[in-house]
Amino acid sequence: MANQKPAIATPLRTKAIVEAYDLNFKKSLGQNFLTNLTLLQKMVAVAEIGPDDDVIEIGPGIGALTEQLAQKARRVLALEVDQRLLPVLAETLADYQNITVLHQDILAANLAELVEQYLPDHRQIKVVANLPYYITSPIIKSLLQQPVVLSVIVVMMQKEVAERLAAEPRTKAYGALSVLVQYQRKVELALNVPKTSFVPQPKVDSAVIKLSQPIQEYPQLIFPAAFSRVVQGCFLHRRKNLKNNLQSLCGKDETTKTKILASLEYLQILPTSRPEELTISQFIELTNLLGKNNLL
Ligand code: SAM
Repeated sequence: MANQKPAIATPLRTKAIVEAYDLNFKKSLGQNFLTNLTLLQKMVAVAEIGPDDDVIEIGPGIGALTEQLAQKARRVLALEVDQRLLPVLAETLADYQNITVLHQDILAANLAELVEQYLPDHRQIKVVANLPYYITSPIIKSLLQQPVVLSVIVVMMQKEVAERLAAEPRTKAYGALSVLVQYQRKVELALNVPKTSFVPQPKVDSAVIKLSQPIQEYPQLIFPAAFSRVVQGCFLHRRKNLKNNLQSLCGKDETTKTKILASLEYLQILPTSRPEELTISQFIELTNLLGKNNLL
């Protein structure tokens, strides 16, 4: 199955492929290709890919990561939005029988349908990708909302975004994204990636995040549909205190103001607290209480 050619993820082979197809990198599509083979192999190891695993890859580019995944996984389904890369991938990945590449925008994809069609009889599905950075947050949000069970998500992104995802309360990086993702998944910052690992080199360093099934039990969320709105509302103005942000979210009439203060007091949260001081459990309890008090 594996071929004898050098890996795609080497500076020389990448250069040869780019020249052969006269490819110009599209900045607007976040095209920074990885040429660091050791790093890609570490990424595959972080995802613990084995012969039972089917993998969905977002944005295969010229196939650097796809090839490494195909050497360990049962099947790889790779979704690429840039049509120009399809003939390139057909050639670079020609020796692998377990890869399907589709011309597909990940944000418009119906993963459940794609999985049914291209990964029938799957046992375990994982997502592994070097993300197009301009849509990192929408992709993560969309993956977490999918009805398809994704056992592990291992994704590369800008270091600054990775730090936000993994951030603990009372830190500068802790925000709405940290809360919303950590509520659903265990988040680990798995690898640091220097910008020299890419062609062309991006301006910032990157990191690999591993999102696995949560181990921590949180209180039950009674109003799940309102959770994201409450969390985002609380962080709307980071410098403002919780009471003011909640008034912007729920209303500023006297009855609402009184109910907000009573809710915070009940939860033993100071109205002058900043949003970054609240734990995920406190955001859940706050959402539940605001909902019960008809404030949402
Ligand atoms: N996986 C390759 C690598 O590691 O070298 C390329 C990664 S590059 C950072 C991001 C890739 O995502 C590009 O190939 C780009 O064309 C593709 N892409 C950008 N927007 C996309 C979208 N909405 N859906 C699917 N792929 C997309």
